[in-house]
Amino acid sequence: MAKTNRENQKAKVIEVLNKARAMELHAISQYMIQHYNLDDMDYGELAANMKRIAIDEMRHAEQFAERIKELGGEPVAQNPAKVVKGQDVRKIYPFDSGLEDETIAEYNAFLEVCRANGDNISVKLFEAIIDEEQAHYNYFDNTGNHIKTLGDVYLSKIAGTSASTGPSTKGFIANQGGGASA
Ligand code: FE
Ligand code: FE
Repeated sequence: MAKTNRENQKAKVIEVLNKARAMELHAISQYMIQHYNLDDMDYGELAANMKRIAIDEMRHAEQFAERIKELGGEPVAQNPAKVVKGQDVRKIYPFDSGLEDETIAEYNAFLEVCRANGDNISVKLFEAIIDEEQAHYNYFDNTGNHIKTLGDVYLSKIAGTSASTGPSTKGFIANQGGGASA
């Protein structure tokens, strides 16, 4: 039997929600690896914030999955993109701001697909998550600029700082006092 118009609309929204979920799963793996590496290099404060950002991405992956389930879809469990390992601290931040910027552009396009298919709840979900990706972008961009302009002076201030995120393991947005889900 052919799909109804409503079923087609839902299928299109589920497709973009799952694309976004796969991107979140990729970001989680990428940022977790960077968190361990920064910790290993003893850049504690950078490691702690990377861990917090990975936690934000886990929440995003979950939020997309919940909406997919509500629409009767099946959330993807795989991260199809390759994770980059062993990056120097000078490479990490331009790389990650690039990832966030790409994510913002993609999510803006996905949001339009949700709007065109009459799903305002998913539009609002993308809007809220785009705001958080922008905060991640700003942090990565600022940190990358500090490393670029101040170099060793900046890094020597970070070396040996604590990598602890405390017992609460709040995400980055919540730790900064933002976000509805903080
Ligand atoms: Fe995210
Ligand atoms: Fe992000």
